[in-house]
Amino acid sequence: MRFIAYSLLVIMGIGACAKRPYALSERSYRKQSKAFSKTIRAQTFPTLLDSSGQKIPADWVSTVNFNLRKPNYVIIHHTAQNSAEQTLKTFTLSKSQVSAHYLIGKDGKVFQLLNDYLRAWHGGVAKWGSTSDINSNAIGIELDNNGLDPFSDQQIESLISLLQHLKKNYNIPTANFIGHSDIAPSRKVDPHVTFPWRKLADKGFGLMPDTLISETAPANFDPIAALRIIGYDTRDLAAAIRAFKRHFLGKEGDADFSAEELNALYNLYCKY
Ligand SMILES: [Zn+2]
Repeated sequence: MRFIAYSLLVIMGIGACAKRPYALSERSYRKQSKAFSKTIRAQTFPTLLDSSGQKIPADWVSTVNFNLRKPNYVIIHHTAQNSAEQTLKTFTLSKSQVSAHYLIGKDGKVFQLLNDYLRAWHGGVAKWGSTSDINSNAIGIELDNNGLDPFSDQQIESLISLLQHLKKNYNIPTANFIGHSDIAPSRKVDPHVTFPWRKLADKGFGLMPDTLISETAPANFDPIAALRIIGYDTRDLAAAIRAFKRHFLGKEGDADFSAEELNALYNLYCKY
């Protein structure tokens, strides 16, 4: 019976593929969205008990003043896959358990996979400042890139246009445009070291140290505290330093600071 049901699903899948390649995932998206709207409409609240185990009197009264919660961060990724088609497939199969709101192809084509108000699964175990559930606060943008190739001009142009829309629409602070490697430094290196963070910062997406730094970090400057104030999880300090260098200095380096790198960190820290 189970085999017949499975076979039917496969046949339906193949039939759907012939018409629209992502018809199955579109149907699942609609079904899940409907279930969430039911959750939002439900006027239920938790049962609270006092210290003696007695139910605390409670009631539901609907306010009339509300709207949807907004994303407050943008996390940029590279897919580490070989094509946008491959990533679309990955994001539309439930067994992968990963997704993002947007995917941008090498040719600059932008795919949206999820409504901005919903929670995509792209951050994984991650932390930035005191925020540990990044997925709840962030828009995830994947760039089709195998992790080695340079990012194409068309791709970056589309990204900047998308960021302009997101920043304006959700009033996202300039400092909150960051990379996966920033929020998960011991696990991730994306977007890779050639990603043009400075070009983005020049347009108002993310902060960067000045290009010419004349000021020297004071003798009592604490680089670990500075990394933490910027947002890095410094429990794996070496990984945090490498992630800082990848993003803000544009280099893959060791976990030590030269005097010049320390000055750059100080310069950046002063902007936060
Ligand atoms: Zn990533």
